[in-house]
Amino acid sequence: MTTPTIELKPSASPLAAAEREAILANPGFGRHFTDHMVTIKWTEGRGWHDGELVPYAPLSLDPATMVLHYAQEIFEGLKAYRQPDGTVASFRPEKNATRFQASARRLGMPELPVETFIEACDALVRQDEAWVPAHGGEESLYLRPFMFATEVGLGVKPASEYLFLVIASPAGAYFPGGVKPVSIWVSEDHVRAVPGGMGDAKTGGNYAASLLAQAEAAAKGCAQVCYLDAVERKWVEELGGMNLYFVYGDKIITPSLTGSILEGVTRDSLLAVARDLGYEAEEGRVSVDQWQRDSENGTLTEVFACGTAAVITPVGTVKRTGAEWQQGDGEPGEVTLKLRQALLDIQRGTAQDTHGWMHKL
Ligand code: PMP
Repeated sequence: MTTPTIELKPSASPLAAAEREAILANPGFGRHFTDHMVTIKWTEGRGWHDGELVPYAPLSLDPATMVLHYAQEIFEGLKAYRQPDGTVASFRPEKNATRFQASARRLGMPELPVETFIEACDALVRQDEAWVPAHGGEESLYLRPFMFATEVGLGVKPASEYLFLVIASPAGAYFPGGVKPVSIWVSEDHVRAVPGGMGDAKTGGNYAASLLAQAEAAAKGCAQVCYLDAVERKWVEELGGMNLYFVYGDKIITPSLTGSILEGVTRDSLLAVARDLGYEAEEGRVSVDQWQRDSENGTLTEVFACGTAAVITPVGTVKRTGAEWQQGDGEPGEVTLKLRQALLDIQRGTAQDTHGWMHKL
């Protein structure tokens, strides 16, 4: 299949600089979008075609568009950061590109070439560079590549037409008032994913499946849900949108990739960063009983969640049916903060990029 070039058709009326700056002063997350988007089509027998960068605009869809009925959709999330010299670099886009391909395979969709995924992201960031927040804080430009079935019809089958898009949204600091621990509800009734299911794909259905448990967590006064494995309902898997790490002194451990866990880019990066800092870092199994016991007896010194949006979030209060415990003294732990700083320094270009993770425009 050929790789399409992306034709530039920029907006004649981008947002005025003053309005853009007002948004950048307080962007929040996923509330404002830049002036442009990239779209690429795929048609059976023809492959990828008609790549273009166009003004950000609503899509017009036939009511029988397949994605609206059978949810054949995948997406990604990655960030571009302003570097100290004023240039812009994105963090490990090739990891997101290969995860996007893995998601596509699982959902019976065509695989976008890695270089096209990266070129689409680069084209959008290049065009909307003024939307990348200034260097200094933890702000960034969040990129959301996604693809869905555009064929019209109600037959259940892999579609013969798809649309790939990239949109971008400025993201403020996740913790503007300083890093605060998040509270977790361990769901023992609802599961996020099952063996042989699509938990390791980044597809909308997984998030739809998580919303009821998320509402349950909110009713319990918790901010996030922790899911357990679907078979024994015992092994810790991940949160609805973040992976988890358990800290035992100088050793950190994250749940192994069982097929029902999303392979986070942050999770993978932290295995390396932790080793760089002299910690032992490994993948393994942690049960919810072990979590509770080791937290209560003090051997489990810290717990944190990680993902593109927040980078690292400390875990504070944990609740499950019939029990509640507090991790440590309620303040973010030392290892959590060290790892968070080390990864942010690489992303913001203030530490040496020894792993070659930053992709410069
Ligand atoms: N798990 C789930 C279910 C997620 O949605 C995310 C966010 N993409 C993560 C983990 C963390 O992945 P990453 O570090 O690539 O953002």
